[in-house]
Amino acid sequence: MSILVTGGLGYIGSHTVVELINHNFEVVIVDDLSNSEKFILNNIEEITGKRPIFYPFDLKRKELLSQVFEAHIISGCIHFAASKAVGESMIKPLDYYENNLFSLINVLQEFRKRDISNFIFSSSCTVYGQADKMPIDENTPLKEAESSYGKTKQMGEDILKDFSRAYQKRVSLLRYFNPIGAHPTALLGELPSGIPNNLVPYVTQTAAGIREKLSIWGDDYPTEDGTAVRDYIYVVDLAKAHVAALKKLINSEEQKVLDIYNLGTGKGSSVLEVVKAFELANNIKVPYQICPRREGDITVAYANADKAEKELGWKSETSLEEALRTTWEWQKYLKEKSQ
Ligand code: UDP
Repeated sequence: MSILVTGGLGYIGSHTVVELINHNFEVVIVDDLSNSEKFILNNIEEITGKRPIFYPFDLKRKELLSQVFEAHIISGCIHFAASKAVGESMIKPLDYYENNLFSLINVLQEFRKRDISNFIFSSSCTVYGQADKMPIDENTPLKEAESSYGKTKQMGEDILKDFSRAYQKRVSLLRYFNPIGAHPTALLGELPSGIPNNLVPYVTQTAAGIREKLSIWGDDYPTEDGTAVRDYIYVVDLAKAHVAALKKLINSEEQKVLDIYNLGTGKGSSVLEVVKAFELANNIKVPYQICPRREGDITVAYANADKAEKELGWKSETSLEEALRTTWEWQKYLKEKSQ
């Protein structure tokens, strides 16, 4: 069975491709390499012993996309391809709407025309904004997203709800909390371009001496240690959830399915806890300074992921320390590779 994985050379995409191959799926990747590197394809092959089919193009190029559907019998899609930098999305909102929405719609049009079902969408806990109560379950009301990036995720979900309803399709919306870590082989991981925005890549680069000091954005939040709290989910665990969600869709007897799952650990960790866990896991110091709050940041977000456990038989298995250890191994791999 061939599964189209858009953005399959990206951070979460590449880990998911490995899990799909481990479960005997044929994988067809479309990735325009805008935020990924070609060597990841070799590394996927090194890990799995199988080289996925790969097409390097932008999904906005409809005619090329159509050719992929002509060349392969596609039975489902996991759609990762999207621009994801929150700050950049506020400066270039049109580029974000164009890229994230047109890419999605183009793939869906192929699904509609060719009568294909089983579509998994990379969504995000940003769709909840600052929720009124913790933990966040799937019935928590959505708030207007803070960023244009977040809005593309909300709109993507809306498009998929209509797609599922109008064309009787099986769809799963996966709302990720904060993905972290790297593959245990250290052959896959996050490749932040430029100065990282996210906490864990910044911590890692600080430990590696690439950045001088981590700035902790605010220690005056109403949390136990004053720093903001998030739910950090290990990327390999997250990748496994995609396979479970896909299998559920494929095995469903219903024509129309709209699944929504929160993917997190169910446990919140503060910024300071992450820094300490990283230091402990890797026996290395992370210099930091306390700075004012970052604009647009929420105080606390962690998942209630019970629904995924009940319906997908999936739950997070890897500790924060273990995830942060893999991140450090990946950083060492990147360093060796660049020498
Ligand atoms: N954070 C920080 N310093 C950094 C990057 C992030 O203190 O250099 C904090 C940020 O304010 C937030 C948490 O770490 O409370 C997670 O931020 P990230 O950007 O990784 O994910 P978000 O939850 O904002 O999407």
